[in-house]
Amino acid sequence: MRLVFIGPPGAGKGTHAKILSAKYHIPHISTGDILRAKINDGSEIGKKAKSYVESGGLVPDSVVIQMVKERLQERDTQAGFLLDGFPRTLGQAEAFDQALCQVGIHLDAVIDFNASLKTILRRLTGRRMCPKCNANYHIANMPPKKSNICDECGSALVQRKDDHEETILKRLEVYKKDTEPLINYYRKQGQLKEVNADLEVKELDVHLLEILKSVPAR
Ligand code: ADP
Ligand code: ZN
Repeated sequence: MRLVFIGPPGAGKGTHAKILSAKYHIPHISTGDILRAKINDGSEIGKKAKSYVESGGLVPDSVVIQMVKERLQERDTQAGFLLDGFPRTLGQAEAFDQALCQVGIHLDAVIDFNASLKTILRRLTGRRMCPKCNANYHIANMPPKKSNICDECGSALVQRKDDHEETILKRLEVYKKDTEPLINYYRKQGQLKEVNADLEVKELDVHLLEILKSVPAR
């Protein structure tokens, strides 16, 4: 199964990507997670990406496209993948289409997570993440068992630098301008499925499973 998740920051793409990737045994590929890891380990790509990521802007297409192409050459993507946060611009979507076409594969579905501004702000301001294993938490909706400690690996949780209010507003602007046009792009290709991302995690999970049932198994 080859899936793409599109939606504004805070819509819950990462949360649902983790649930579905475990269920379907396909890798969850989050360009945001990959970029943050590269920033933390001080690699060349990380140095190029740091200022964009931390200010809420987009990392240049050329950098991200190359990074995703390399990731998709790894063996674990043969049975499928779930892309979260890519493509994020029309340029990325076109380059991605070309790359898929060259190897003769196609996407099974593009899922658009529709969320209201109120939901987005509530989720992002309460979000905490594990800097070591990328597990996500929310101080009210999905708190860790022990305050501020990752359930999975015991690390202290952090708030992402780009989850502070001014940066959140900038990311939403960037989303509207650069990423929202992709919704029509994929709708025209007949691949778009829209979901109501204001729903609670459990309800939305049920809805996503319904949608994926209609995707032919390979
Ligand atoms: P969110 O979806 O909550 O904004 P992500 O973790 O997906 O968070 O992304 C965080 C940041 O990483 C983005 O604001 C951007 O700077 C960078 N980024 C992630 N994916 C891409 C992409 N496909 N193209 C350009 N920049 C990206
Ligand atoms: Zn952890």
